[in-house]
Amino acid sequence: MKYVSEFRDPLVVERGLEALRQTITRPWVLMEICGGQTHAIVRSGLDQLLPPEIELVHGPGCPVCVTPVEQIDKALAIASRPEVIFTSYGDMLRVPGSQRDLFSVRAAGGDVRVVYSPLDAVRLAEAHPDRQVVFFAIGFETTAPANAMSVLQAHAKGLKNFSVLVSHVRVPPAMCAILGSPKNRVQGFLAAGHVCAVMGHWEYPPIAETFHVPIVVTGFEPLDIIQGILATVRQLERGEHTVGNAYKRAVTEEGNRPAQAIIQRVFEEVDRKWRGIGMIPMSGWALAEEFVAFDAELRFKVEHIAPQESSLCIAGQILQGMKKPHDCTAFGSECTPEHPLGATMVSAEGACAAYYRYGR
Ligand code: SF4
Repeated sequence: MKYVSEFRDPLVVERGLEALRQTITRPWVLMEICGGQTHAIVRSGLDQLLPPEIELVHGPGCPVCVTPVEQIDKALAIASRPEVIFTSYGDMLRVPGSQRDLFSVRAAGGDVRVVYSPLDAVRLAEAHPDRQVVFFAIGFETTAPANAMSVLQAHAKGLKNFSVLVSHVRVPPAMCAILGSPKNRVQGFLAAGHVCAVMGHWEYPPIAETFHVPIVVTGFEPLDIIQGILATVRQLERGEHTVGNAYKRAVTEEGNRPAQAIIQRVFEEVDRKWRGIGMIPMSGWALAEEFVAFDAELRFKVEHIAPQESSLCIAGQILQGMKKPHDCTAFGSECTPEHPLGATMVSAEGACAAYYRYGR
């Protein structure tokens, strides 16, 4: 397949690995931001092929993993209401809240439905004017444009029975929080190619400059990842810290301006709590004043939530690059994909799920 198979060619990947071996002279710790990249690295075995001087740590770029447990509990409370059709992407249904998950709500009679687009939820609201349709709007900059568009569509159609439970997060403030931590180990970042396809990489130079770290936009195929690592290591070896782009076939510096404009119209930046990590200033989006009528939290008044997390789960430290999944005592015993204790074992992009699935 054009633009896929040539980026998985073992001979070309081996040439990239050899260039890396020729370049590297000392240990470096790099973080791939995105959980999709984590899975690509582990699935293709790149983590076992890299020179031993390179340690990859796994970042917080998994939307399912970082959605705070109180937001899950709010989703469970709303989805349990008899007048509600609760809609979500499928991977949120197994994410544990304090006591249960959305599958349990559905098993108990709640009307919980998987949709493949928030616009499907808008269509459901049109088809069921006697019901309240709620969409669970989670994710990073990648899902924000479509979620914002659903609010614009519902607004344009005058729908009074559509709302969104918003838990959007933004990558740049999370990078700053990781780099600003006294426990930080990250010396270079592989930035998430799909986030940058939307947002560009114009937000990153001040981060690279402030924290003296190279940031290289990186794609998702093995060759993309090798090229991203090589570009990052070349900078580190030269003592440089600039923003590079190893994913030019999909990403430009300015990104998708119309998508950014939709986000800016519908959302405003707010402080946001990240599961396992805590509050990160201005790291999320909430509905702007003009669209608060579509806020499910306000509509269903679910603010009194007291969440409980598993005391065994160290997902927060994994998502900040401080620990690896097998540092967790519950990994593969109390916590498995069938019986997950934390979101990084549930999610298709979670680091714990990647290590479990591919036998690390
Ligand atoms: S293995 Fe399970 S309990 Fe341990 S950090 Fe991962 S998700 Fe949390």
